[in-house]
Amino acid sequence: MTVTAGKEQLLNYIGGQWHRSATSDFSDVHNPATADVIATVPHTAKDEVDQAVQAALKAYPDWRMTPVTDRVQPLFRLKRLLEENLDDLGRTITIECGKTYGESVAEMQRAIENVEVACGMPSLIQGYNNEDIARGIDEHMIRQPLGVVAAITPFNFPGMIPIWFLPYAVAAGNCFLLKPSEKVPMTSQKLFNLLEQAGFPAGVVGLVNGGKATVDAILDHPEVRAISFVGSTPVARYIYSRASANGKRAQCQGGAKNPAVILPDADMEMSTRILADSTFGCAGQRCLATSVAITVGEAKGEFTERIIADATSRKVGYGMDESVAMGPVISAESRARIEGLVDQGVGEGAKLLVDGRGKEVDGFRNGYFVHPTVLADVDPRSDIAGTEIFGPVLSMMHAGTIEEAIEIVNNRRYGNQACLFTGSGSAARQFRYAVDAGNVGINLGVAAPMAFFPFSGWNESFFGDLHAQSRHGVEFYTQTKVIVERWPKTWSRKF
Ligand code: NAD
Repeated sequence: MTVTAGKEQLLNYIGGQWHRSATSDFSDVHNPATADVIATVPHTAKDEVDQAVQAALKAYPDWRMTPVTDRVQPLFRLKRLLEENLDDLGRTITIECGKTYGESVAEMQRAIENVEVACGMPSLIQGYNNEDIARGIDEHMIRQPLGVVAAITPFNFPGMIPIWFLPYAVAAGNCFLLKPSEKVPMTSQKLFNLLEQAGFPAGVVGLVNGGKATVDAILDHPEVRAISFVGSTPVARYIYSRASANGKRAQCQGGAKNPAVILPDADMEMSTRILADSTFGCAGQRCLATSVAITVGEAKGEFTERIIADATSRKVGYGMDESVAMGPVISAESRARIEGLVDQGVGEGAKLLVDGRGKEVDGFRNGYFVHPTVLADVDPRSDIAGTEIFGPVLSMMHAGTIEEAIEIVNNRRYGNQACLFTGSGSAARQFRYAVDAGNVGINLGVAAPMAFFPFSGWNESFFGDLHAQSRHGVEFYTQTKVIVERWPKTWSRKF
């Protein structure tokens, strides 16, 4: 297999122009399947972040006054452009992020769905009103945009996560800045090429590359009114605190450790297949990946046999190879961290049923591969039971009853997702009623909300109140204004 290589210096997009950053601070972007350096990304300094904010501020008054029916027209064009460029975007995601080409294209499909929903902004942004709240007095609530808003996004969905935010922000009348992950900045270059073709006026959308210093410049900029963040929990907490201390709105999605409970009455073939895809898909680097399987009663024996069979037969390799089911993890550091956490699990008493460490992939000896790994008999009170591994590692636990299983599910810091596998409607109702998680799956392994529902993380998986996507996105990117109105009587009551 030929790997596409080439080293490109990436650009910022400010005020409708592509800019080579003046910084001397760059980092390399790697293809995780080969370890080749495929691009260099600038770490944009404070003065250039300010230039981007000023360009957005300049564009804002006119964009805000543009009728909402006109503001959504570039989004209709963007949808078509994303569809026409699906293959190129899919390849770019696979090359810089490592997931399989099929997973990359599926990711873009989810992005497109968000563009479609935001195209409904003329209806979504409507307010409400009452006539005659007192004699001759009317009251209206309208939604107005905030101004300049920004999003800071993680490495694992470089095409989808920026589009969880951008379409809602701009259709609601804001100007939007993106700071993508410095590990996967190439997809954003492609997205912004398409945004440019879609015809947004200069300054309405902007791109600044970088890492922590660039993020801090955004968080401290007085003209940035709202921050959307997706990434790990420690960074989510930091960003939420610093943005809030600076008087900004913030919605910050954090990490996860998602449990799935398997009852003895579950369809075991279907459940294991779904759970294996949830755990090992995207090399476990999904915030909705299942990372803990809790078998109840007799489910343990058959589930264990089946998951071992899946983990040991899953083909690992380069994501552009069609026969491959699982690609590499994002970096050498990430692989070392995952392998270390497996050691820690064993040290805390877990049994290593499948060890995916230290295995090479033919033709890709330098790639950052970790094969599927299964730990059994993980103690729910151990450190590893509550630590996000973010790799293709399943921790198995066991419970005597569904109540015990729900207790394990609820006794943890995160709350991104919890799933149940069962043939019983009553058990399903008990589970969805009681579990402490914002996204719940019943006989599903990745309960990803569609674009017209909020992505509802709870606990330490989310800091804020309004989530990404759907009406929550509209509310987050607008402020309500209430008008109470009386007019001198100029007409007669003869009607
Ligand atoms: P990360 O937290 O390391 O980085 C996310 C973003 O924050 C990047 O743009 C990065 O440049 C920036 N950043 C990193 N450290 C920073 C710091 N100290 N100060 C300011 N900015 C900083 O996350 P990641 O490794 O890119 O992504 C993986 C994590 O994201 C996992 O924990 C995963 O669970 C989580 N995630 C959550 C969701 C969700 O919806 N809850 C979705 C996808 C990923």
